[in-house]
Amino acid sequence: MPIVEQRTGVAFELKKGQKLKVIDIEGKQVSDLFCYIKGDYQDYLSNGRTFDYASKILLSTGDLLYSSKSKPMFKIIEDSNGSHDFLLTPCSHDTFSILYEDYQHRGCEGNLLHAFKEYDENFKETCLPATFNIFMNVPISSKGQIEVIEPTTIAGDFITFEALDDLIVGLTSCSAPQSNGGSFKPIKYEVI
Ligand SMILES: [Zn+2]
Repeated sequence: MPIVEQRTGVAFELKKGQKLKVIDIEGKQVSDLFCYIKGDYQDYLSNGRTFDYASKILLSTGDLLYSSKSKPMFKIIEDSNGSHDFLLTPCSHDTFSILYEDYQHRGCEGNLLHAFKEYDENFKETCLPATFNIFMNVPISSKGQIEVIEPTTIAGDFITFEALDDLIVGLTSCSAPQSNGGSFKPIKYEVI
């Protein structure tokens, strides 16, 4: 099974009907997921559309993830942990300079953009909107305040998505200390 090494990202194609299983090998590691409909970089994963159609913001088994043009992209078919965030943007160069005073790291956003460019040289650099942040633990208070705390995953926790269209998928092993309990671990994935 392929590994996403710590603080890196990969991009690959997933055909309609294929499944993507993402595994937290050691526990307490987040993985940011983003995708495009193959052939249309204007049709990308959208938290807003997904919340509109799901009427909720916490997603798990049975839920669909939608694109900006309202196409169903993924169905979550298995989820051993159940804690994911779909509100926040991927950690980025700016995240590191603003929150961590680290001016070096490009974060998940930079890693995803680099991976998409490696997959397809015609891919144009852009800003990424919210990613589906697998295993990210973001409790929401009744007043709407949010916090980023340590993931609750243990070694071997997994989530499986079924592709509902032909997709170009990017996946990271998240680079932000706060999101990952202060240490960086690899993520494993399998295309089934
Ligand atoms: Zn990240």
